[in-house]
Amino acid sequence: MTFRQLGLCSEIAKACEDRGYESPTKIQEEAIVHLLRKRDLLAIARTGTGKTAAFVLPMLQDIKNKQIEAEKNGDNSSRVLTKLIIAPTRELALQLEKSVKSYATHMDIETCCVYGGSNIKPQVRRLEERVDLVIATTGRLMDLIRKGKINVTKIDTLVLDEADSMLDMGFVADIEEIMKNLTNLKQVVLCSATLGPNIKKLSSQLLHNPKVIEIKTKDRVNDRIEQIAYPCTAEKKLEMLSFLIGTKNMKQVLVFCKTKASAEEIVKNLKLDGLKAASVHGDKTHGARVKAITQFKEGQIKVLVATDVAARGLDIVDLFYVINFDLPFMPIDYVHRIGRTARAGKNGIAISLLDAYDVATIRDVEKYIEQKIPLLELEGFEVDKRMKMIATKKIVETKDDFKRKKIGGAFGNKKKRQDAKKAPKQRGRRIIGGSK
Ligand code: AMP
Repeated sequence: MTFRQLGLCSEIAKACEDRGYESPTKIQEEAIVHLLRKRDLLAIARTGTGKTAAFVLPMLQDIKNKQIEAEKNGDNSSRVLTKLIIAPTRELALQLEKSVKSYATHMDIETCCVYGGSNIKPQVRRLEERVDLVIATTGRLMDLIRKGKINVTKIDTLVLDEADSMLDMGFVADIEEIMKNLTNLKQVVLCSATLGPNIKKLSSQLLHNPKVIEIKTKDRVNDRIEQIAYPCTAEKKLEMLSFLIGTKNMKQVLVFCKTKASAEEIVKNLKLDGLKAASVHGDKTHGARVKAITQFKEGQIKVLVATDVAARGLDIVDLFYVINFDLPFMPIDYVHRIGRTARAGKNGIAISLLDAYDVATIRDVEKYIEQKIPLLELEGFEVDKRMKMIATKKIVETKDDFKRKKIGGAFGNKKKRQDAKKAPKQRGRRIIGGSK
């Protein structure tokens, strides 16, 4: 099957070829035909399946069809905003715009990305020009609608990308309000990584007789990702992080942590250790985030430290290492985090640093991914007997048994950290078996 055979024009097929796509992925093969026929779609597919192109390419094709039609009729009025993609975060919105632009390189299609946390005026100016497709986050879009700065009355196609994240983030009421303004809507696409009761409810509210495509992946986690974990004491985590980056000679590594404050502290410590690092999280200005991500992609900084929400939509080609400085609150976020590596057929390694709290938490992750994550011990970072017993499940404690304030945090003991800088070379020793 080729992109042309799916009913897409040569310009789109050429753009896919430029990106090195040899053939459509499964979701593209299944979705594009139905979308070109204007059917609603519920796509249950996680990132990495090629879902973006699956909904973007038919939109581009439809814009082109309208352009041809308008040219035939000598009519310029159809060159208005007809396509809308809504994303849960600005990072995903920007990533989507980049994808749309690259798929539309050989076409005469104008896009605009609108998102909060940055000046609204340039976005308003851009919307005053001819724009065919808008990518938006909910808050900014509602703001623009209320101010009468965006004309949504001709929008005929709406995509809600990562709808499950939108629900998690409490955007349902916003979506409902936006929908009320889309008076000319003909087609709705709902994309979600999971099919929970809330997504089912939303799809029954928004979609009419949808084509349902579920891309079942045998494992929740891409099997090209090697997963390992190192137990360590909380106060040695920062040191272990620098040590691993150094001894494994990591050229580019994405580090995840739960909080903005942790991200800042990690960056500070990495810089003290001579590693070029920057952070992306909700308190950073949009400009600072874009700069950090660009520098990371271009190799000017080695380590990007991100919180979970800030990292949504990050697509870094060839990223090999992801490190979880701590484990996320929700097991699904572990899957999102490590899914930043091993993209598009490549391999990757995901390393988790586990203090006593995380050692207990990792059981929830293992249950969720239905896999065991091998625990290795690093020389120089040995854990005490009690923690080893917990790790090897000789004593069972739940994560609620650990309160961070009781066990101390990763950022509490600077002096000890600095004293212990000269750790011996790593030799991983498995202390609990796993699938690898
Ligand atoms: P997505 O699931 O949309 O986030 O896409 C994940 C990755 O797969 C992105 O890096 C895309 O560029 C890539 N991709 C999308 N479609 C194809 C295809 N047909 N062949 C190869 N790679 C693709």
